[in-house]
Amino acid sequence: MVFIISGPAGSGKGTVVNEILDRSDAFVCAVSATSRPMLKGEQDGVNYHYITREAFEEKIREGGVLEYTEYCGNYYGTLVSEFVRAETLGKHLILEIEVDGATQIKKKYPGAVLVMVVPPSADEQRRRLYDRGRDTEESILKRLTRAKEELEYLSVYDYLITNETGALDRAADDFFALVRAEELRAACDIHFKNIYFGEAE
Ligand code: 5GP
Repeated sequence: MVFIISGPAGSGKGTVVNEILDRSDAFVCAVSATSRPMLKGEQDGVNYHYITREAFEEKIREGGVLEYTEYCGNYYGTLVSEFVRAETLGKHLILEIEVDGATQIKKKYPGAVLVMVVPPSADEQRRRLYDRGRDTEESILKRLTRAKEELEYLSVYDYLITNETGALDRAADDFFALVRAEELRAACDIHFKNIYFGEAE
């Protein structure tokens, strides 16, 4: 199954994804390509594949990018090769991507499950962005503007998780609960097809 995890800047979605990966080896998280510069503490091939704008555009032309968007002036995109990697490993795939890309994936894979992670309040969201000290003031302001636009896409999403401060466990528990619900939904679908059409998919 494909799980898309989105969230406005400061939602802490990256921390939630790391907690999910720490708890279970049934999931693999796609490493996206981006044209944004590598930030302090990041590693090429781990956080992203960092490539130039020109190389990114070439990848799009070659058909190597499943979806992409421009976010705060930089390209971000999911590589087709990451789907192949998850399939080869026999794991569920997590895509940590923003709303535009999530909508594109949902059109291509209607079975993809869309999860929105939100911060508990606007004040807490700002505090997290300033505290992590990763972005410039200009980048933080751009991200906060974009965050408001992103929440307009909420109707496309299947689940919402509030990532309360100091309650990472609860956010991860919520994720595993929805995964279980989706597995049971898939089981129902397979059972229905077996009974009425004599086929298992
Ligand atoms: P950041 O610069 O904070 O790492 O990422 C900025 C935004 O881009 C985040 O919302 C992140 O989820 C999103 N993003 C990361 N990778 C991809 C991708 O492959 N495709 C799309 N559409 N968004 C992505």
